Amino acid sequence: MSYIVAVDVGGTEIKSALVDSDFNVIATITAPTPNADTTGVETVKAIAAIVAQFSTQHPVDAVGLAVPGALDEPAGTSRWSGNLQWKNLPIRNLLEDAIKIPVAFGHDVRTAAVAEMRSGAAKGARNAIFIPVGTGIAAALIIDGEIRSAEGFAGEIGHVNVNGKYPCVCGKSGCLEPAASTLAISKAYGAQSGKSGTTTEEIYKLVVAGDAVAINVWNDATAAMARACELLITILAPEVIVFGGGLSNAGETFLKPIRDYLDSSLTFQRKPRLEIAHYGAKAGTIGCAMLAFDRVKAGK
Ligand SMILES: [Zn+2]
Repeated sequence: MSYIVAVDVGGTEIKSALVDSDFNVIATITAPTPNADTTGVETVKAIAAIVAQFSTQHPVDAVGLAVPGALDEPAGTSRWSGNLQWKNLPIRNLLEDAIKIPVAFGHDVRTAAVAEMRSGAAKGARNAIFIPVGTGIAAALIIDGEIRSAEGFAGEIGHVNVNGKYPCVCGKSGCLEPAASTLAISKAYGAQSGKSGTTTEEIYKLVVAGDAVAINVWNDATAAMARACELLITILAPEVIVFGGGLSNAGETFLKPIRDYLDSSLTFQRKPRLEIAHYGAKAGTIGCAMLAFDRVKAGK
């Protein structure tokens, strides 16, 4: 049996897992993402500490590292990440130099899409879109059977204008991300109800329970997502749109308003199926593990 560590560096947390070659998650560690770590030094230190801790359980053969933002994946570089405040940061090499084992590197959304494409909700679809909704929002575009990233620039659906009313980390206003991310939903609910710090998990339960403020916030967020989907459907004609990330736990409560909007707004376009990620919030971990084991098998 061989083992890898899957690491997902998010805007607020570094989520990591020790995964065996049958894709069983053996153990997990979550640590806070270092704040405004523009040089990546603190992030590398945090990941090295995690790998060292897992190594006491099993020898680790490789790391799969997933990060958000615009990347140059072959070069292992983060071109830009608004949430991490990274710019042209060679994060893969920095980490490999520190831990001395191979690091497979990918965009957090596209690594999760690998799991959904190979054995999840997008399996068998030649054209699909995978949208994890967490602190940030981006899309993996599966076109004619391949994940397309246009050298790492494509898929930043969180920054299309959906006539939203909130300022965005990208410097503009009206983007999808500050209207429909988990952070956005939590903030909007806090502003309207006076109860700050309410999680999206709590909010969608309030939606199901009929709470008027929660329903209002939910309708705004899902309407923004539906408009973004309409755009993607019109341009790319996916057979299926798969939603992942933290918000995917809401299941039909999340999908139904989007489906209703699309049913009334699409005219000539091919209607895609809307699905929740098979791996749920674990898609990123499994996809990361798949890429890391690809590297182990390739002997690099
Ligand atoms: Zn934006």
